Amino acid sequence: MLSESTLSDLRASLEQEQSDLRARLTEMGLLSGGELSFDQNFADSSQVTAERGEVEALAGNLRDSLIDVEAALAKLDNGTFGNCELCGQPIPPARLEAKPAARLCMDCASKR
Ligand SMILES: [Zn+2]
Repeated sequence: MLSESTLSDLRASLEQEQSDLRARLTEMGLLSGGELSFDQNFADSSQVTAERGEVEALAGNLRDSLIDVEAALAKLDNGTFGNCELCGQPIPPARLEAKPAARLCMDCASKR
C-alpha cells in the first residue's frame, strides 16, 4: 500500500512530467488548445520524408509518454493508481518511484 506522502510525491512528479511533455509537444506544434493534434498535423506536414520520420518517431514517443502520464494521473484521481492493468496486483512502490507512469507490474511487463 502506498502512503499518502508517496502518492503526493508521485503526483507531483507526474504533473511535472505532464507539463514538460505538453511543452515539448506544443513546441512541435502537436498540441493545440490542450488537445493532441498529432495525426492531423502530420497529414498536413510538408517536411521532407526523412526529417519527418524522425520528428514523427520523437513525437510518437512524447505522445505515448503523455498518454501514460495522463492515465496515471486519472488513476490517482479515481483511486486505482498503483495496480497492474493486466493482473490487478499492486505494482511495487520502488517501481512506481522509478517510473510513476508504469501501467504494469514487473511480471506482466517482462512477459510483453
Ligand atoms: Zn501484472
